Parts: sequence; structure tokens; C-alpha cells
Amino acid sequence: MRILEFPRYATFAQSFPNTVPYAESFGWVGDFSNPDDFDYSFFVTAHEVAHQWWAHQVTPSNTRGANQLSETMAQYGSFMVMKKEYGPEAMQKFLKYELDSYLRGRAGESKFEKTLLDNDNQAYVWYRKGGHVMYALQDYVGEDSLNRAFSDFLADAGFRSEPPFPNSLEWYEYIDSATPDSLKYFIEESFKNITLYENRMREVKYEALDNGKYKVKLTFDSKKIQYDGNGNETGRPDRANLIEIGIFDKDGKNDKGMTKMDPIYLQKHWIKPGQQEMEIIVDKLPVKAGIDPYNKLIDRISDDNLIPAEEE
Ligand SMILES: [Zn+2]
Repeated sequence: MRILEFPRYATFAQSFPNTVPYAESFGWVGDFSNPDDFDYSFFVTAHEVAHQWWAHQVTPSNTRGANQLSETMAQYGSFMVMKKEYGPEAMQKFLKYELDSYLRGRAGESKFEKTLLDNDNQAYVWYRKGGHVMYALQDYVGEDSLNRAFSDFLADAGFRSEPPFPNSLEWYEYIDSATPDSLKYFIEESFKNITLYENRMREVKYEALDNGKYKVKLTFDSKKIQYDGNGNETGRPDRANLIEIGIFDKDGKNDKGMTKMDPIYLQKHWIKPGQQEMEIIVDKLPVKAGIDPYNKLIDRISDDNLIPAEEE
């Protein structure tokens, strides 16, 4: 791999076979000495390297949805590199950054938003929503299972020399093949629809028990709303959704000195929409708790999922 610098007549990085040119003003002048600063140079390099597969080997047809095969997949690759480098407990701020970027993108949309399968010109969909949805999907079905499906896709569609060239529907078949029936709702809502959660932790109370453990009482809301491309509500599916509930100690540091969350309890539950309560017994003093605390789901307000715990 060669990474090379070009003068700042333009600001971007782009992947060519084995060669990624970066603008002088992008990456080369970054200061990443504070481990908690977003090392966009690392993130973008991982993304550009991922294009060696997604775009250079699997080259999509020139049809609607095609850019997801390169940009969403490159974004997924860079997310997985970050997860391995920093650990899943340090991923919340990246997920939140991508989620907020997607929300800003759709808020500023001047025409209409398209779905992940059908989108042809909205960068906030193919980068921000796409990468974010893929992170949640690998978290649900297992990174290995999803990567096996993509390995099959690569074997089938890589270096294809005759049409029909791969499109987003073919890509989706492989994603579908890695997804168990219980989670089909998630891929349908994420790829074929525009679906946003409104998960919110309202109250976290704990009580010390005689045996040294703590009883934690969580009160939270969960909502899931579907929209058309103009942002009009089209439905509120009332089925239960698989959503993570987490109870945390105070934040720690990973081996890079980066802030990471320290879960005492982390488990996915089938949660029906509406306000509800849950009681969980934990071994350590709880400091904060959340519903979808790592911001793995597309959620209209990313800040209210995780709140401090208070003694009852
Ligand atoms: Zn790219």
C-alpha cells in the first residue's frame, strides 16, 4: 500500500489499486496526540483500504443503490478495523458521531430521502446510515456470520466481467442469508424503509442489597417510527424489538489511553414499544445505565439513551 500526499488544491482521499492519495490539508496536518480525539486519518485510511475489495473487486452496476456496495461496505470495513483496534467499549462516540451526521444529513435534505437499497445520490445515506446499520447488523448476527456472507458475495461478484453486474438487490440477498428469521424485521426496516427509534432512559434507581449486590430499577421509553422520503410518518410497528440494555461502572481507558465504557451488565432484550420498567440485580455499584447505550440503533435523539444512576 502506498499513501501519498497531493497539494491542497482539493481536500479528499481516494482509493486506487494499492495507492491512496491524501490531500495535504487532510490527515497530514492532523494532531492525534490526545487519544480521545477522533483519529479520522486512521478511520479514513481503513475506509480507503476497504475499497481495495469494495469497488475494486466487487464493482457495482451503474444503477440506483450501487454506491452502497462500495461506500457502505468501505464504511463497514473501517468500523470493524476500529472495533478491533479500540475495542467495542470505545465505539460509542464513533457510532454517535455517524448517527448524528446521518440525522443532520436527513434534516438538511432538500428533495426526499431514499432508502439504503435504493439511494443513488445521498452521501449521508451511503456513508453515515449505511455504516451505522452495518455495525448494528454485525452486532446482532455476529461479525463472523456476516463476513462469511460477504466472502461468498466477493467470490460470486468479484471481478465479474459480464453483465448483469452486482447491484444492491444482489448485495441484500447475501445480507439476508446471514440474518436469522427473528431479525429479518431489522434488515427490512433498515434497508427497505426509513426507520428511526426513539429510545430514552427516564430514570435509573438502585438499592444496595444485604448480600452486597445492587437492585437496579430502570424506567425507559421505546418507540420506533417509520417515515416516507419527505419525513412524514407512515407507521409505528408495535412488535417487540431486540434492544440492548446496559448498566455501567464509571468510564475506564483502553490500552491506547482512550475513554471506554465499562459495562457491569449488557444484554439484549425483546422490548415492546411504550414506557416500561425493568429490574436487574448487579454485583457492582451502578454509575449509569441506558437503553441502546452504545447508540447502535438509528435514534432520533442520541443523547438521552444513557443517564446517571441515583440511589433509591
Ligand atoms: Zn469511499
